Amino acid sequence: MALIVQKYGGTSVSNPERIKNVVRRVAKFKALGHQIVVVVSAMSGETNRLIALAKEMQAYPDPRELDTVVSTGEQVTIGLVSMGLMQAGLKAKSYTGAQVRILTDSAFTKARILSIDEQNISNDLANGYVIVVAGFQGIDQTGNITTLGRGGSDTTGVAIAAALHADECQIYTDVDGVYTTDPRLVPEARRLKTITFEEMLEMASLGSKVLQIRAVEFAGKYKVKLRVLSSFEEDCEGTLITFEENNKMEQAIISGIAFNRDEAKITVRGVPDKPGIAYQILGPISEANVDVDMIIQNLGVDGSTDFSFTVHRNEFDKAMEILKNKVQGHIGALSVVGDNKTAKVSVVGVGMRSHVGIASKMFRSLAEEGINIQMISTSEIKISVVIDEKYLELAVRVLHKVFDLDQEPA
Ligand code: ASP
Ligand code: MG
Repeated sequence: MALIVQKYGGTSVSNPERIKNVVRRVAKFKALGHQIVVVVSAMSGETNRLIALAKEMQAYPDPRELDTVVSTGEQVTIGLVSMGLMQAGLKAKSYTGAQVRILTDSAFTKARILSIDEQNISNDLANGYVIVVAGFQGIDQTGNITTLGRGGSDTTGVAIAAALHADECQIYTDVDGVYTTDPRLVPEARRLKTITFEEMLEMASLGSKVLQIRAVEFAGKYKVKLRVLSSFEEDCEGTLITFEENNKMEQAIISGIAFNRDEAKITVRGVPDKPGIAYQILGPISEANVDVDMIIQNLGVDGSTDFSFTVHRNEFDKAMEILKNKVQGHIGALSVVGDNKTAKVSVVGVGMRSHVGIASKMFRSLAEEGINIQMISTSEIKISVVIDEKYLELAVRVLHKVFDLDQEPA
């Protein structure tokens, strides 16, 4: 007997038929003698619908009230799933975040989980119930309803699994696992049987949308065994996110190619090459709550240098305005130029640690296609480049091929 947390995304519960499908799978696991906690998202499209409604009332919805509204999507699905389970003859019980007492901080719309009271759930599980928990939501110290950020049900699933010391956390979604890259871009993309937790974290941070980044972080921190599977296929094994690298020995050096179309590049030209400049440029940017991704500063020539960084495309105008109006004159820079038609492509693989020449292979392959690299950043297990957005597809396809991801590893 195992304790399994199964998280179902919005497409898996988008109508009664699909909810019945979820019920059938839960019943199957239950029949095998397992204890099951189900965590669900709102029906697909529902959270967007609720956000749009809120915006009709208030141009910038009050964050507390917005959470009150958007958290309702999940309350509907937990009730429906529980009814379905009962109809199938199982004992079932729904819990909102507040009913569990998923305690979060008070950062509305992006709250972080602080603790989970697992006592009631554990008792109900021991009494044979299937527990159905609302994803994406919690409650703060003063009793306000909070939400965890878009895609936050993944994090709820992992956090519940951690709190209950579950044997496995299964994330059911509309893809059947983690792929070497997005199959919509590269038809040859393959499902990975395993991926290490570190690689998954890089993939998620680099734009792969399979799992919410925070969920992956959480899983890493609490060593939750995570598996991504399709909710529309029977008996698929999905992708297991592992903590060991030893089973990677026979595999490709590179596990995947991630990409992100949302990257915009900004360069501050001719900044004085002296202490404090990076802070004076990026301080006002971070004060405005704009996230900065890659940062590059050139070596100074004649006492001045160029300073480049990337931000999310949505925040490009805001960042440009801050730099032009508040920073440029203040630090005596020559000019501020930007390009919001850029994209980031990354190769990810723990094999990089033990193999040399990955970067040069990547750069050569891009050069052979005439693709100019505008920025480069690396970590121990990934190399990212910023390129012109119009070459994104070509770059991803080429890299997928040269790193042998088109074929099953020998
Ligand atoms: N319903 C929320 C959203 O659409 C949470 C989730 O689906 O994970 O972002
Ligand atoms: Mg989701």
